[in-house]
Amino acid sequence: MNKKGIVLLGATGSIGENSLRVIRANSDRLKLVGIASGSRAEPLAAIAREFGVRHVALFDEKSCTDAQNCGLFGTEVNLSSGIDGLNRLATLPEADVAVVAVVGTMGLHPTLAAIEAGKEIALASKEVLVLAGKFVMAAARAKGVRVLPVDSEHNAVFQCLNGAPEHEVARIILTASGGPFLNLSWEKMAAITPEQALQHPNWSMGAKITVDSSTMANKGLELIEARWLFGMEPGQIKVVVHPQSIVHSMVEYVDGSILAQLSPPSMTFAIQHVLLFPERKPGVEPTLTFEDTMNLEFRPPDLTRFPCLRLARESMEAAGVAPAVFNAANEVAVEAFLGKRISYPGISDLIDQTLQNIENLEPANLEEVLDIDRSARRVTNDLIKKHEF
Ligand code: NDP
Ligand code: MG
Repeated sequence: MNKKGIVLLGATGSIGENSLRVIRANSDRLKLVGIASGSRAEPLAAIAREFGVRHVALFDEKSCTDAQNCGLFGTEVNLSSGIDGLNRLATLPEADVAVVAVVGTMGLHPTLAAIEAGKEIALASKEVLVLAGKFVMAAARAKGVRVLPVDSEHNAVFQCLNGAPEHEVARIILTASGGPFLNLSWEKMAAITPEQALQHPNWSMGAKITVDSSTMANKGLELIEARWLFGMEPGQIKVVVHPQSIVHSMVEYVDGSILAQLSPPSMTFAIQHVLLFPERKPGVEPTLTFEDTMNLEFRPPDLTRFPCLRLARESMEAAGVAPAVFNAANEVAVEAFLGKRISYPGISDLIDQTLQNIENLEPANLEEVLDIDRSARRVTNDLIKKHEF
């Protein structure tokens, strides 16, 4: 059997690490052919050595030059940098699948390049669809390329849909752990520090998504991601809080039956499903045994204490460039919060004010969306400079 060639963008991150576990365990089916990261050359070099990878990209030019000067990757490796480096990796002739798992919207151009080159996309970077879902999905349709969801909720929905016709599906129900502040009062939220926001009860993930999970902006981004991945109307996507993170999401059919996907909270299940799709093989982690009592709880989200989720839903319903503005403002605000320049409630305040400052319109093309993305980031940064958040 031919091995699937995998390019892994964001190889040194949390999704990257879990992807490597899956690839390692399935070396009879999968072959890592290219890897990329932002600036951390040493862990990238270690991955290149272990998997014998010949094509590597380091986005940061200085890190790339330094790595070249000290011969970190050896002479066998073809090393490149910048967005061209990422695009080159995403379109490698020996790659069948591009795993896009770089932080934020950095993955947009490589995703489009990979689609253009006819590669299957294993998408973790939800921000790519929140920013430009309309254009990314149109490009994938035009090329006949599949965009397979790595995000655990969307992967669960994809599994529960199992190719069902659209008219049989009533809605999808995304589960949310609720994060570390699920039961904290709004008053106490004002004092939350980055250290506290970086402690997720169930999942071990990168810094940005961990903060997003704590504010539930992550679930908001996932609403919009689901809209594009599954072609749903906003009213067909529901969020339910499920603190145990065992049911990863559900699909309700028109006859009232609801199908759910369950597994322990580890990303290896979704990653393996996507990388081996449509084949199934034993996974790399223990499964649910049902040997002990297990309570599964479900409750509606509190949109007053989690305004980011409300703002994301409103942006999704407003459509146009509102989701892109939401995403840009959130990215800038989270960075400012992690840098201790704004308070925790400042994150949602900044998103709210940025949305109010930018006129919504239906973007005619990708360039218009990217312009709005830049303007929104400028507006959020200006708000941070001028006011106290
Ligand atoms: P991490 O912060 O752990 O890793 C980010 C990765 O992106 C690192 O490899 C980093 O490289 C790389 N990177 C950063 N900037 C650039 C750049 N400019 N060019 C190329 N690579 C870059 O993030 P996660 O793995 O947690 O998340 C990655 C994506 O997956 C996010 O979009 C997130 O929303 C999504 N996701 C993550 C989940 C999770 O469980 N972690 C679950 C569902 C979705 P370096 O090490 O050099 O900085
Ligand atoms: Mg998720």
